[in-house]
Parts: sequence; structure tokens; C-alpha cells
Amino acid sequence: MTLMCCDSSSNGLTPVNTVRMVVDPTSPPLDLEIQLSSAADILRCGGLVAFPTETVYGLGANALDGQAVARVFVAKGRPQDNPLIVHIACLDDLQAVVAGVPDDALALARAFWPGPLTIVLPVRGGVAREVTAGGDTVAVRMPSHPVAMALIRAAGLPIAAPSANISGRPSPTRADHVWADLAGRIEMIVDGGPAGIGVESTVLDITSSPPLVLRPGGVPVEAIRNIMPDVCVLPQHGTGSAAEGGEQEGPARSPGLRHRHYAPRAPLWLFIGEWEDQVQAIACRARAEAEAGRVVGLLISTETAMTTSKASIPDTAVIAQTGSRGRMASVASGLFDAMRRLDSEGVDVMLAESYDTGGVGLAVMNRLVRSAGGRLVDMGRSGRK
Ligand code: AMP
Ligand code: MG
Repeated sequence: MTLMCCDSSSNGLTPVNTVRMVVDPTSPPLDLEIQLSSAADILRCGGLVAFPTETVYGLGANALDGQAVARVFVAKGRPQDNPLIVHIACLDDLQAVVAGVPDDALALARAFWPGPLTIVLPVRGGVAREVTAGGDTVAVRMPSHPVAMALIRAAGLPIAAPSANISGRPSPTRADHVWADLAGRIEMIVDGGPAGIGVESTVLDITSSPPLVLRPGGVPVEAIRNIMPDVCVLPQHGTGSAAEGGEQEGPARSPGLRHRHYAPRAPLWLFIGEWEDQVQAIACRARAEAEAGRVVGLLISTETAMTTSKASIPDTAVIAQTGSRGRMASVASGLFDAMRRLDSEGVDVMLAESYDTGGVGLAVMNRLVRSAGGRLVDMGRSGRK
């Protein structure tokens, strides 16, 4: 067997040849493990492999190898104080990364694993300190995507994996997104088709009392509440708070919240209010932007696209549909891809619609508010615009 090893001494700045490998996620699990043996070799040798999960694409490294994990930070340009999620393939793997498994964690794992729930627990020695950013807790999840599962099994390691994008950019939901951001910086991209859910996992800290959702995600808070009635949610909305990515002093409950996130290249304005008001206000602002000579990108639902008459928006406007307001899962699934499409069209400004915060809508709105970085047009507050 040829061992595909990367130069693990590489600091991540030296360009590397990125191999793209297409796999069929519907293949039988054992076939997938065999197909992924070269990817697993790369991980075991300290290299970096991007792979699909059911949430977004992840950038994997051996969670027990500090040098490998350090390369993830360099490849992504990720701030070193932002810890990574460790991915495991079965409950037994949990013992290798956490110091103890409380009953609550087991109940959550039974209910939501494999799936998009990340649980923060006390860390066990052996996990690279780069993974936890030097902290005494580790975030763990068991992904349900067959390719992610097979890769972890084939590597026989816990895999530390943040989203496989340049830090601050919209998360990648397709292998093309990963290629655009990370080609030349990582050894391999495993292309298993589009990620399904489209927003990242829910991060739940159960080391605190009461347990706290640090980041809303693929598992709705309502579902966690069925198992843990006292769960709280770290405040996510409103302008200028740390939860929107503003600067924050002192230790953070969720270090990821300190940093700019999910931001497209063009400034994104988020419209908040009754749907009919949003539709009108977005069209009106689109015309004003076009008159000022700017190319406008509209990040809107299929319903809004159908309602907005051609006459009411400028000819130059580019529309990227997220999904259907009636099916929030489709909006979550299409959100980051739509943002990236508008970016690649080179729009000067993006105007985005907002959604109800029930179920996965909370995660969608969290991403949109953070993408906007404070550029909110709140018709509830400032009247109809
Ligand atoms: P991503 O960067 O997309 O992988 O998201 C990982 C998220 O999990 C970030 O917001 C991190 O700050 C958060 N996270 C990871 N490990 C921990 C931890 N030990 N404690 C609290 N939050 C964590
Ligand atoms: Mg990320």
C-alpha cells in the first residue's frame, strides 16, 4: 500500500498540491472506508483533509496531534483562541477525548447522535491543547454523514474539524466552496456532494448550570428542551452585542463569538419586520442602490422572488434564492451557497430577507445577523422604509 503522506513539518503557508476525490455517499459503509483509505492515511500522517458532514464541510486533522491541528489554524487563518469541535464515530470514542461522561451527556447522545449536536464536556489529557485553545473543556460531536463516519472509522482517530472555509467567510456546503477557499493549503478535499442541513451544529455547553446553547444550529433548541427543560440560550440577537461578533473583553463563553463570521465579500444588509414590509423595503432599497450605480444582490426566499415583480427591482439586480419560507430546512440548506453565488457574481451590496426564529430558523437568523455585522434595517424600530 502506498502511504500518501504530507510533509507534516509544513507550516501551512507552503503551497501544497490539493487532491480532490469524489466519493458516492450512498456506497455501502465498508466500501466507503476502503475508498477513503488514502484520506485516512493523510490524517494519520498529520495532514489536512476536508470532508462533507450533514451540516457543512469540515476541515479535519488528527485531534491528538498538536502540529496537525496547528496547521488547521494556519490554513483557515483562524484566530488561535477559537477552539475546534472533535468528531467521533461511536460512543466508545468519547472516552478517548473527555474526562468523564455524565448521564446528561449520554441522554443527549442517545437522542441526537449521530447528528448536528455538539456537546461541550471536560477535556481528557491527550487531546491536543490547540484543539481546546488551551481550555479545560472540549466540544464533541458524532456526525451522521456516511462519508464523515467512514473517514473517522478509516483513520481510527478523533478528528478535530472546524468548517472548511477561510475564517470569517460563509461556511462551505459544497466541495467547490472548499476548493475556492482552501485549494493549495490542504492535502485533500473529499467531494461527497452537497452537505444536507447547510448550517453548523448546535453547540451545547453542559459543564455550566443551567446548560447553555452557545451556538444555535442543526438541532433545534426546542428539541433539546424536551430532554433538558432548563436549557438556556446565549443571547444571539440585537445589534452590537458580542453574540453578533463584536469585540468582547475578557473570557468568552463561546470563543467563536468574538470573531467576524459568515461574512460575504459585499456588505450585507438584513431587513427585519413583517414579510410584506420586507419585500417592499428590499425592492425600494434595491432601486436606490442601482441608481447610485451599485450592483445589488438579493438574498431572498422563493416566495419573495415570486412576489417581487420584474418592474419593481432594477434590471441589474442579481437574485440568489435561499429556499422556501414555508420550509425553513430548505432556507438553511441553501443560505451559504446563495451568499457565495452572489459573491462570485461580484455584487457590490447584498440585501437579505429575515425569517422566523422557530426551529432551525434560529440558526438561520443567527448566521444572517452575524453576516450583516450590525447592518440591520429594522422596520419594527425605524418605521417602514
Ligand atoms: P466552527 O468554527 O465552525 O468549527 O465552530 C465551532 C464552534 O464551537 C465555535 O463557535 C467555537 O467557539 C465553539 N467551541 C469549540 N470548542 C469549544 C469549547 N471547548 N467551549 C466552548 N465553545 C467551543
Ligand atoms: Mg466555522
